[in-house]
Amino acid sequence: MSLTTDQRETLRDKLQQRRIQMVADLRDESISEDGTLAVRSHRGETDDEAVVEAMDAVEIASTARDASELAAIDRALQRLDTPDFGVCIDCGADIEPARLMAEPTVLRCTACQQRFEHQHHTPGGARL
Ligand SMILES: [Zn+2]
Repeated sequence: MSLTTDQRETLRDKLQQRRIQMVADLRDESISEDGTLAVRSHRGETDDEAVVEAMDAVEIASTARDASELAAIDRALQRLDTPDFGVCIDCGADIEPARLMAEPTVLRCTACQQRFEHQHHTPGGARL
């Protein structure tokens, strides 16, 4: 663990602020009055069914992205007070403090993140 107490508190602030913002966004966009996550449909805005479907698909994708970011923030906040925070989940090395400051929800060190992305992305075709 290479983070100082100050750095940890800064990260906690960042995460909490981002969480508040994310919850507000989700509430505006997608949480219905009974508290369930629902995506507002664009039905009624146009008669073109294909356009409605395309617009709804964008909305669903964006809501899913927000919801998964919110989950990542919650996980980071839970980990913040444990010895696991700031430690790469793949190799167990300390994650660079500057990297955590820029992106408090990261789970891997730079090297492991690059390997992870390499393994989970299909390459966009060979380049000559
Ligand atoms: Zn690592």
